[in-house]
Amino acid sequence: MTNPLTPKQRTKLARQEMPVQAPDVRRRDFDEVNLGLTVIQAHTEAARCLECSHPKCVEGCPVGVKVKEFVELIYDGDYLGAAAKIREDNVLPAVTGRVCPQEDQCEGHCILGKRFAPLGIGYLERFVADYESAHGQLALPPIAPATGQRVAIIGSGPAGLSAAGDLVLKGHAVTVFEALHEPGGVLIYGIPEFRLPKAIVRREIDNLRKLGVRFETNVVIGKTIAIDELLGDEGFDAVFIATGAGLPKFLGVPGEHLAGVYSANEFLTRVNLMNANKFPDYDEPVYDCRDRIVAVVGGGNTAMDAVRTALRLGARRAMLVYRRTEAEMPARAEEIQHAKEEGVELVTLTTPLEFLGDDTGRLRAARCQRMELGEPDESGRRSPVPVEGATFELPMAVAIIALGTGANPLVQSTTPDLATDERGYIRADDETLQTSKPGVFAGGDIVTGAATVILAMGAGRKAATAIHAFLNRQSKGHDRDSGHQV
Ligand code: FAD
Ligand code: SF4
Repeated sequence: MTNPLTPKQRTKLARQEMPVQAPDVRRRDFDEVNLGLTVIQAHTEAARCLECSHPKCVEGCPVGVKVKEFVELIYDGDYLGAAAKIREDNVLPAVTGRVCPQEDQCEGHCILGKRFAPLGIGYLERFVADYESAHGQLALPPIAPATGQRVAIIGSGPAGLSAAGDLVLKGHAVTVFEALHEPGGVLIYGIPEFRLPKAIVRREIDNLRKLGVRFETNVVIGKTIAIDELLGDEGFDAVFIATGAGLPKFLGVPGEHLAGVYSANEFLTRVNLMNANKFPDYDEPVYDCRDRIVAVVGGGNTAMDAVRTALRLGARRAMLVYRRTEAEMPARAEEIQHAKEEGVELVTLTTPLEFLGDDTGRLRAARCQRMELGEPDESGRRSPVPVEGATFELPMAVAIIALGTGANPLVQSTTPDLATDERGYIRADDETLQTSKPGVFAGGDIVTGAATVILAMGAGRKAATAIHAFLNRQSKGHDRDSGHQV
């Protein structure tokens, strides 16, 4: 069916609003905030697309999802066809439709955005992925005949999962080793239920299991077993390292050891993965936020996730303490808006100098420094400059530090011939993701530093292609030493 509207008529259609749970209800539960477009909304939104001959939206997508084609299929009412079209380039559409920073990617490049609101590409992606799962019609793709070759994947975040999916389809036997007790990486332990329901991630992992991917949880590579053992006695032919960047960064100020001070990673993991929000039904301690003042230090998506989680745990006040202003916050605009609607307080131009405890060693306050904006720094944002003599005490019982993360170091430190950069990230070839160690590839946050779900998935796919080529060469008689060096 051809969209009969002229381009002018299309631009007159308003971008469809995402239905959301009411702020005063959702601030106290963990149910998903965004509810998804209705069929009529999805059809209307799809009708807005200008069907550009050179679609800029595709250039903005790190994995090149065929946006124009899948939107046309939605307009035609072929939702399963649209989902299949997305899956050609993106194996986790229900995830990326929810968590991709579309405003910087596809939607940021959409030509409509020059004068009107850009097409709601993320909303439409989520719509078809949810339609597909509601109708239970995901057709598992055909699997190539078994090659007899075995690949070990270390880490089960989006990079590891997408590599696993592609490699198993090529006929290789794939085992994913995960340090935690449940696979999914940040999708499971980091991003909270109210933004990304865990059932969605578990369903995608089950699909991979159905394709034949094996998951071995509670296995810490570098401790339980080393990479050299995987390639030696364990008989794997290649290894893909996708261990992410989960090492928390702290402020480095006095008092960070006090009870009640957490890293965002620890706090979110205790809630998301270990059910601390269901205490005392679940025996996982997280210092009870109920009726207490909680301050999260930082201004990115992780900070936003932590502060909104604290609110849902019953915090009396949930504050975001950030050293610049709201305009410089790196978090997505939608997350900032949702947080404010829910009652999160933004304490901007402020940074803690010291955490102060009571007689029992529990946090009671932070001594803070007032800041002002100075000249732009290397990030292009105006830099925070201390206002001389302007310090004050901010009462708080729980502080959560969300200042970003660094490379998980264990695999690198137990694999001597694996080259790393000065920050401890693994060096890998841009195109093949081959590391300095023959037969070993690496991708996702452990190579790039903390990035995004879609970039990690893109790296997983790239690695799968390169590993497949490497295994083909091996089976034709070349040995591992033919893997080129970085
Ligand atoms: P990860 O997802 O970090 O997975 C790595 C896995 O490896 C983990 O499960 C870890 O346990 C495992 N592992 C580590 N070491 C070992 C070992 N030695 N042995 C075995 N297993 C090991 N991105 C977005 O695009 N949108 C968002 O909204 C968004 N929100 C975020 C919110 C939070 C709280 C955080 C922390 C990140 C967020 N990100 C978001 C970033 C995004 O989640 C990451 O860029 C992405 O998950 C990186 O994928 P990865 O596969 O490289 O690593
Ligand atoms: Fe449609 Fe925007 Fe892509 Fe053009 S750039 S094809 S209007 S989504």
